[in-house]
Amino acid sequence: MDKRSLKDFSKEERRDFYQYKYEYYAVFMVRLITVSVIAYLFFFVTDCLIVGRFNHETLLSRIIIVLPFSVYLWLSKNVKDYRVMVPITYLMIHMIIWCTDWATYLLPDRKFAMAGMIVMNLIFVCAGFGSPLWGSIIGHAFVLVDIGVADLFIHYDDLTMMYLFNLPCVVAVCAMHKMMQRVHVEQYIVRKQLENLVVQDQLTKVNNRNKLKELSNIRGELVAFSDIPLSMLLLDIDYFKQVNDEYGHEAGDVVLVHLAKVLKETLRITDYVIRWGGEEFLIILPGCVVEQAEVLAEKIRKKVEESDSGICPITISVGVAQHEPGDYHITIKNADEALYTAKRNGRNQVAVYKKMNVQAIS
Ligand code: GH3
Ligand code: MG
Ligand code: MG
Repeated sequence: MDKRSLKDFSKEERRDFYQYKYEYYAVFMVRLITVSVIAYLFFFVTDCLIVGRFNHETLLSRIIIVLPFSVYLWLSKNVKDYRVMVPITYLMIHMIIWCTDWATYLLPDRKFAMAGMIVMNLIFVCAGFGSPLWGSIIGHAFVLVDIGVADLFIHYDDLTMMYLFNLPCVVAVCAMHKMMQRVHVEQYIVRKQLENLVVQDQLTKVNNRNKLKELSNIRGELVAFSDIPLSMLLLDIDYFKQVNDEYGHEAGDVVLVHLAKVLKETLRITDYVIRWGGEEFLIILPGCVVEQAEVLAEKIRKKVEESDSGICPITISVGVAQHEPGDYHITIKNADEALYTAKRNGRNQVAVYKKMNVQAIS
């Protein structure tokens, strides 16, 4: 069980976690803001009850909220990045507060201002669900600034009491968000573990075949890499059956884990290692033309030959193919054809798939 907390996360993991948390609550946040805006508009009725007639003075301050709300709705549909949407969400809530201050300024009786501000804290409770902790602390604590600024022109009946009621609310909400964040971190870790189980080979810890399905669309096109060259290597351990026969199946497993380790160490973080079959690995090299892939394949072959698997010396044969736009299965078939040539020509070598014929290079 992964017992890490947020401070043990890398920068990228933390960003991924905050994005996950935001996306989880994104629809809820839009609904929360919508309900808050409707409630804000409805309070025009209370304005009228306070003055005892149709209160056209506060009409503009109430209606105006529709403008920022429309911008907010548009942004929430088109921008998915939590680093933009969390500040925007808090800005929207503060706009409701500022418009409330404006309406309050125009009302003859301000005795409900305190109750109104305490109710606003409820919106901040919910907004914090989808926000990083620092976002909810800054976004919410700014209420205290709002109160101070509003007092300059509204002149609350009792500013001290206004602060004394709101300060504990702000502290309590932030403390609650801190506790909730811990629960979210645990959920996030479990989710990542489940995702890994789906795309990870449990013996070697490299990707399994599902990874390719994740990278491709229904037609087998590798959509994320459609604008860049891409090559594939298909590699296979030579005479692996003999390793199993001589040293046992468990020793064979040790060799497989060792090979996966060598591959991961040799490749870039942007490359993909996939356990394709028993002792066959597929390597996807985004950004590599076939000539570069060929050099890399030879480097891997040499490294494996020189490495110590802890069981016995091993060698590999490698087939190289450049991916053409279209179904990735064709590229794998081509790489397999090249691999077959490498095997036929004596093993422990690299062969490249060329359109008309397969050429061995070493
Ligand atoms: P070649 O050089 O032609 O590739 O010969 P080979 O012996 O490697 O090829 P073959 O396909 O005949 O043998 C592959 C062996 O890989 C057979 C199977 O027992 C073994 N194998 C497949 N999966 C695993 C595994 O998860 N662990 C172990 N230890 N062995 C496995
Ligand atoms: Mg083999
Ligand atoms: Mg094989």
